[in-house]
Amino acid sequence: MYNCGPTVYKRQHVGNFRAFVTADLLRRSLEYVGFDVTQIMNITDVGHLTEDDLVDSQGECKLQKEAALRQMDPWQIARAEEKNFKDDLALMEIPPAHEYPRATEHIPEMIEMIEILLSKGLAYEVDGNVYFDITKWPKYGALSGNRLDELEAGASGRVDERTDKRHPLDFSLWKIDPKHLMQWDSPWGRGFPGWHIECSAMSRKYLGDTLDIHTGGPDNKFPHHECEIAQSEGCTGETYVRYWVHCGWLEIGGRKMSKSKGKLYTVPELLELGYTGRDLRMLMVKQHYRAPLPFDLELLDDAKKLRVKLNNFVANEMSRRPEGPKNDQIQTVISEARLKFEAALRDDLNTSVAFAVIHEFMTAVNRLQPSQLDALQVVEFMRELDSVFGVIDPVTEADALDGEIQQLIDERIQARSERNFQRADKIRDDLLARGIELVDTPQGTEWRTV
Ligand SMILES: [Zn+2]
Repeated sequence: MYNCGPTVYKRQHVGNFRAFVTADLLRRSLEYVGFDVTQIMNITDVGHLTEDDLVDSQGECKLQKEAALRQMDPWQIARAEEKNFKDDLALMEIPPAHEYPRATEHIPEMIEMIEILLSKGLAYEVDGNVYFDITKWPKYGALSGNRLDELEAGASGRVDERTDKRHPLDFSLWKIDPKHLMQWDSPWGRGFPGWHIECSAMSRKYLGDTLDIHTGGPDNKFPHHECEIAQSEGCTGETYVRYWVHCGWLEIGGRKMSKSKGKLYTVPELLELGYTGRDLRMLMVKQHYRAPLPFDLELLDDAKKLRVKLNNFVANEMSRRPEGPKNDQIQTVISEARLKFEAALRDDLNTSVAFAVIHEFMTAVNRLQPSQLDALQVVEFMRELDSVFGVIDPVTEADALDGEIQQLIDERIQARSERNFQRADKIRDDLLARGIELVDTPQGTEWRTV
């Protein structure tokens, strides 16, 4: 699986993270149903002129612009932001990919592909600039549903008078720009690669000519992924990608996040407001990955509440003490839930059904009043399901016990202050029967196992 990764010129915001959480959810789901996944995510650390990016046609290099703003060189910015990105992944409970290839470290692979495209007549060079010849690739637009003639009409208004392209939709493979701070030698002169070629070259190096899965954000589908297909299939003659997976937009106030005037929170900013990475995961994974995802702090609060419910259920099961035989019905409920849960994931990651299965399961368990032995199995099963979502806090049994005993100690203090010594003694005796002794000290009540 290849994931389009971040462009590391500034900290990624929640809108960007939807794509990374989706990739993570997909990987976890595939692993849950028994696949081995090799996950590669690129780091775009080359500054690119934005002329390829139809949304922003100001022609400025984002990395270079940011470097000037922060009075650092682009390399320093890229390394610092790559580290920030990986820190944020950890905060979001996203396990690392197997490799994070950097574009700047794969220039020879890109040059090799560009040479093949030139030799096949799919690309042309004008004074050191190399372009992909879109007229030689009739399939262009098939993935995004764009038709070449419609795109032509749309692009004609934006044609730069000075451009040396033969067709307005031809895209850059190699660029010459003496002002650019990141430059490499190439057969066409000193310059830097176009953005799209990095993903074609790096996915090929790490995963071969044909990838099983390629993911990206909704903004990557066009033109980035169309360009990747044209380059890769043009170069190898093989199918590039078997399954494309694009998540939907994150929306603020009903607007696409990338165009939003609203607050684009970063992960650390949300943590400062008292949320956790798991709260944000919860908000993202309970929505179907392809659907638009409305975002505001109120919705994040709702997601947090749902998560607390799951946490409490697990903590409750952990502190269940009734001894007794195993209840066969618990085993039946677990087996049925497992089948339904897996079926939901296999149905295009239908996470809302998967969460409904979890809630149904919790209700069934509560009705069955499990014994301590049953509860252990219930907790284990909840952890199994959560291996896909990563939203339940990893409370240990010791934590749960600690919380429960502390609650009883508080209750005992309360009982004594009300001169209800019978209740206070009963709490002490019950705990002693479980092998826990309360010791009153001048600093307060402590407990130890006996
Ligand atoms: Zn990409």
